[in-house]
Amino acid sequence: MGNVILDVTDVSKSFGGLQALSNINLRVEEGTVHAIIGPNGAGKSTFLNVIVGRLAPSRGRVLLGDQVLTGKQPHEINQLGVARVFQTPEIFPDLTLLQNIMIPAFAKRDGQFSFGIFKSLFAERGIREEAEHILEDVGLIADRNKVAGSMSRGDKRRLELAMCLIQDPKLFLLDEPTAGMSRHDTNSTIELLQRIKERGMTKIIIEHDMHVVFSLADRISVLAQGAIIAEGTPEEVRNDPKVKEAYLGG
Ligand code: ADP
Ligand code: MG
Repeated sequence: MGNVILDVTDVSKSFGGLQALSNINLRVEEGTVHAIIGPNGAGKSTFLNVIVGRLAPSRGRVLLGDQVLTGKQPHEINQLGVARVFQTPEIFPDLTLLQNIMIPAFAKRDGQFSFGIFKSLFAERGIREEAEHILEDVGLIADRNKVAGSMSRGDKRRLELAMCLIQDPKLFLLDEPTAGMSRHDTNSTIELLQRIKERGMTKIIIEHDMHVVFSLADRISVLAQGAIIAEGTPEEVRNDPKVKEAYLGG
């Protein structure tokens, strides 16, 4: 394996008596797309919530490069380079698309650098240009001055992707990015994800649509009842009898 960017060791999480994750071990190689699949309630979202610091694991450890994420707050983990799109888009509905995209860009800059006033004016122009560039990339440039709350669900999802892309994260987590989308929006989102794959950004994607998973993932882990029951290339996973039984329905 090449450079490991995410290293998860023995992570477990229980909610009261429910063991949502048991002893998860997972390594993600830099620059790859790693998919996590599994039935509803398998623990996929819980796993992402542990990585981003929204949930504390009952035990185990998560590393990003050589940084320990376990025990850090979500905003600290975000500052370290982890971005995430949620199952339900989280955007600022009263702001324009351009403003929505500039917020994470400023947050990232202000968390990392301190600029003098002149530098800051230049930086603002730079960020605006970058924001427009990314809106163009995701196909929303014509709507840049529209209020985000007025957009369709698919466009909100695209906007949320753009809000992550402008952060240029080391690790990008996507929790069912095509959930609730029409076939048309799903296809254009896959096409967008394929284009951003070429940038070499490391991603973990949770997705129900096997067509999406098999077209995007370099590796797949299969989660069932809180445990990883199989891991491998799409080909290996597709042909794994355990997976067919537990997930693909035999
Ligand atoms: P998935 O994303 O794979 O569908 P989840 O990670 O959302 O599954 O849920 C895994 C299990 O943990 C489910 O049984 C779910 O009901 C339970 N669960 C998830 N979040 C919580 C919570 N905050 N409190 C209690 N139980 C939870
Ligand atoms: Mg989920």
